[in-house]
Amino acid sequence: MSNKLILVLNCGSSSMKGAVLDNDTGEVLLSCLGDKLILPDAFITFKINGEKHTVDLKDKPNHTGAVEALLHELEAHGLRDRIAAIGHRVVSGGELYSESVLIDNDVIAGIEKCITLAPLHNPAHLLGIRAAMKVFGSLPNVAVFDTAFHQTMPEHAYTYAIPRELYRKYGLRRYGAHGTSYRFVADETARFLGKDKKDLRMVIAHLGNGASIAAVANGQCQDTSMGLTPLEGLVMGTRSGDIDPSVFSFLAQNANMNITQITDLLNKKSGLLGISELSNDCRTIEEEAAKGHEGAKLALEIFAYRLAKYVASMSVASGGIDALVFTGGIGENSNLIRSKVMGYLGFLGLKEDAKANEAARFGNAGIISAEGSPVCAVVIPTNEELMIAHDTARLSGL
Ligand code: ADP
Repeated sequence: MSNKLILVLNCGSSSMKGAVLDNDTGEVLLSCLGDKLILPDAFITFKINGEKHTVDLKDKPNHTGAVEALLHELEAHGLRDRIAAIGHRVVSGGELYSESVLIDNDVIAGIEKCITLAPLHNPAHLLGIRAAMKVFGSLPNVAVFDTAFHQTMPEHAYTYAIPRELYRKYGLRRYGAHGTSYRFVADETARFLGKDKKDLRMVIAHLGNGASIAAVANGQCQDTSMGLTPLEGLVMGTRSGDIDPSVFSFLAQNANMNITQITDLLNKKSGLLGISELSNDCRTIEEEAAKGHEGAKLALEIFAYRLAKYVASMSVASGGIDALVFTGGIGENSNLIRSKVMGYLGFLGLKEDAKANEAARFGNAGIISAEGSPVCAVVIPTNEELMIAHDTARLSGL
């Protein structure tokens, strides 16, 4: 066990997720979730040694209050002095950051500059960063960007076919997301398969509530499905993914909806939820589909079909495909979705090993394609917090 621990923070506008990790073993010693941080009934829940308890934040219902409560909790468990650095998840680093950085005033200004690209997230991250700097004093703080891994995409992959002036003026282009997860999973896949990652052409599907896919070759991202925002690409829990942009004018003219309402519909009421008319949760949908619910069955089919189409198109970006990697809550657990996707990709010679597919669930990595399959399908659990902890330790000189 290492003596030095890393605190990882992921701040939303009214929430704060935190974890204290041993950077060597990956063990999580404490986790917390602060919520309603702008309301009088703000609170933070701590989980330590398998036990949970909640602390009221009504005297300071904000991010500073949450970080102070976390500091007290760490002191109470004798962990405060072992915290050596703090890593912050930051949604957008735009084109400014292609890797993680030690935070100073210039980096704070850089994260501020990227607010137009992540108007909900970056301001919240800044609240968390400022609170951590204030409460934890001299500890180094590191920013780890969701977009950084995707900065290696070639121009032809990140440029939209719209007037180029819009890119020059507003930075309007594909940025992608889930980059920290892809970086972790690409490394883990190479390790798991006993290959050098530079020799592996991978298509990685990160399938959580938000879902995206990336092509990785030469150890670098070549293309990804999320775009300027996370709305583009795959079918997700509540997001539509790719859709004809004319849906905006169609709904404006026929359903009397405005831009905000349509954006909300495509982000929050679509995807698995919109199709199934039941839930955004894949587990629930699988249960109901098994009982014969038509909407649930269709939702699963569309999810898998669209994903398979994307695997094929991402193989163009990676120049072929040696490994198809599933990760994220759905990717790591749903052998049904994986089976359907492999079925659609049978034309590549990809064949499922049904037993292995069944076994690779609940945190178990595994090869799920049959022996001799020209494409190796594999399940690799992601761990974004650990990747953030590794970067934080490295950049803090630990
Ligand atoms: P987030 O993007 O919020 O981090 P997760 O990566 O935790 O999301 O993934 C959440 C998704 O994973 C949900 O749709 C959930 O239903 C799905 N999921 C989790 N466990 C299973 C399971 N055993 N079978 C099918 N889907 C699962």
